Amino acid sequence: MAGSAVAAAPVADAAAVAEAVARARRAAPEWSPLPVRRRVEALAELARVFERRADDLAASIVEETGKPQAEALAEVVVSVELIRYYRAHAPRHLRPRRVSSGWMMWKKAWVEREPLGVVGAITPWNYPLILAMDAVTTALVAGNAVVVKPSELTPLATTMIPELCREAGLPEGVVQVVTGDGRTGEALVRSGVDKIFFTGSTAVGRKVMAAAAETLTPVTLELGGKDPAIVLDDADLERAARGIAFGGFFNAGQTCISIERVYVLEPVADAFIEALVREARALRWDGAGARDLGPMITAAQHRKVSEHIEDAVAKGARILTGGVPEAGEGAIAPTVLADIDATMKVYAEETFGPVLPVIPVPSEEEAVRRANDTAYGLFASVWTGNRKRGLRLARQIRSGGVSINDSLSHYGVGGLPMGGVADSGFGSRRGLEGLDEMTRVRTYFADRGGLTREPWWFPYDDRGERLTRAVLALRARGGVSGLIAAAKRMLER
Ligand code: NAD
Repeated sequence: MAGSAVAAAPVADAAAVAEAVARARRAAPEWSPLPVRRRVEALAELARVFERRADDLAASIVEETGKPQAEALAEVVVSVELIRYYRAHAPRHLRPRRVSSGWMMWKKAWVEREPLGVVGAITPWNYPLILAMDAVTTALVAGNAVVVKPSELTPLATTMIPELCREAGLPEGVVQVVTGDGRTGEALVRSGVDKIFFTGSTAVGRKVMAAAAETLTPVTLELGGKDPAIVLDDADLERAARGIAFGGFFNAGQTCISIERVYVLEPVADAFIEALVREARALRWDGAGARDLGPMITAAQHRKVSEHIEDAVAKGARILTGGVPEAGEGAIAPTVLADIDATMKVYAEETFGPVLPVIPVPSEEEAVRRANDTAYGLFASVWTGNRKRGLRLARQIRSGGVSINDSLSHYGVGGLPMGGVADSGFGSRRGLEGLDEMTRVRTYFADRGGLTREPWWFPYDDRGERLTRAVLALRARGGVSGLIAAAKRMLER
């Protein structure tokens, strides 16, 4: 029931966090030396455990967030899909990579990716399982141990992860969970972990980065967004309306990559808005039969979303459907707003609720200009009947990714990295790029010539200088002319 306590979790202090990190560090030597193939097989077993325990996981998520069952199950599926992707692609990606040693043909050069050690992951409340599992899976595949600090609002599903890892036969202790609020998160940032993988708000992301700077702990920051959708005049308007309703109202709009602004070309604006309003009105959000939208996570979030709607209306916006709810908690109706201007909070700030401001624009150029008129840059979508045209526009939008004629579904593709630019943070989660962020690069260079001395070592002499000039000519010119020039330099007196 909304507003009632479903469970309690302890607030770990700095000492408890340090102990969890120490346990993870002790467990790592049993995990990191395993070949990547063995690690991904162990995780494949975890995927099977997830399938067996899907209902328990989903029940925990529903209990702590109130989201619809379908959306809770989606978190389980997407977690499993990432494991499946890494099982197929990580072993090859993490193999040592030969590098050309150039003109030093008697040398061997290569790069290896090695685990960082212990990764600290701090996660928000909107997707308690998947956002923790993105970090856990990626960290483990790369050979690390991991300590997760879930949101104080939603610790339940995350707390199940170590137990499920045990069930899958992973070494004891490689996944630790510490519960608590921001103080616990801060203690984790300062605990000496080898990396902080932070997902949450931009404001807290700044604090995390500042604290991590003190110990030069590397960070990945996955922060907020204000994602635009652009509807062109050749779009399938029914599909666009359905897809944008899904992108804006999934998880009641409490998604970092939810659509929060819609720019539609003027000639199709009326028809599109009519279809979008129809979609919004068809959603079940109120009362016991609510299957499509759950509640706002807290009364504070409810207030914030209501304030955004009120502020817009006070400045002249029209509510086409939905609007400010009477209750101070629970669900908010899917809301579509028109007559938006740039001074409104819904235009510039992350709303994180089921609110879609729709803004007709006269041209593609204006749509792109408005789409980029934000401090954020997480994701975007373009809706068009012409994929080439969509792609041309997509490339002009400043964001970490773009969908064409789709919304949110890309998160189900394990190989697509996800991350933002500007106030949406930096770095990647998921995909091979996400895996790279959980490793450190080490270069190797071996001599195979067996000479007693390299020609450029001490002491310097004329021969060494001739050789340097020869290499310069060889590498600058390349090809046969480079070879001839290099030979001449060597023979010069
Ligand atoms: P939040 O920033 O308030 O909290 C996130 C986590 O940080 C929580 O676990 C919290 O306890 C912890 N924390 C708070 N203060 C801290 C501190 N000083 N040091 C270390 N940790 C601290 O975010 P939230 O309200 O839980 O989540 C919503 C936000 O997350 C939205 O802005 C949303 O866009 C963003 N988000 C981003 C992504 C992404 O991948 N880019 C995904 C989901 C959510």
